[in-house]
Amino acid sequence: MRLLIMGPPGAGKGTQAKTIGAHYGIPAISTGDIFRSMKTADTPLAHKVTAIMESGGYVSDEITNEIVADRLAQDDCEPGFLLDGYPRTLPQVHTLEEALAGMGHPLDAVISLAADEDEVVKRLLKRAETDGRSDDTEATIRKRQQIYAEQTAPLLEVYRRDGLLVEVDGLGPVEEVSQRLFAALDAHASPSSVPSAR
Ligand code: AMP
Repeated sequence: MRLLIMGPPGAGKGTQAKTIGAHYGIPAISTGDIFRSMKTADTPLAHKVTAIMESGGYVSDEITNEIVADRLAQDDCEPGFLLDGYPRTLPQVHTLEEALAGMGHPLDAVISLAADEDEVVKRLLKRAETDGRSDDTEATIRKRQQIYAEQTAPLLEVYRRDGLLVEVDGLGPVEEVSQRLFAALDAHASPSSVPSAR
């Protein structure tokens, strides 16, 4: 199973990604988590990545693509994977496409977790307080929403055109969203089993 999960920052991608990964027995790989884990490293690359994250911008495609290629080459990705927060730009979409072609496995589905902007900003401000995430100040939260809308949301159309997009409403209790998600993934995998599609 090879999946992507996309959606605005704060839509709940990370939480759902872990549930989906456990369900299918595949690693849930978050580029945001990989970059956050670099914060404690004392290297020029780690300092660069940390500064970019704190500004609310995107890490360069070159660095991001290299980090993802390394991660996908690990043995646990053999049965599949779920990428959370990647790709976020068109060059990343193309790089992933090439990597998948090289592996001989296409994507199975691209989940789009939708959420209202005011709601996600509220969620992120709460998370910044409880988790102490320094990349989550109000100014960076707003900037990250804007960058997502400008640079990443348009990519959903690429996957819609390819017939891969599975759209799910991300608002509501976590378990309810998970149920919606699995129902939508099942319907995508076997459309004829959905009553309304008959
Ligand atoms: P996230 O936790 O997915 O919201 O990511 C947190 C931050 O990590 C983002 O605001 C970016 O600075 C950086 N980041 C994560 N994934 C990517 C990506 N695919 N491309 C560029 N920057 C990324």
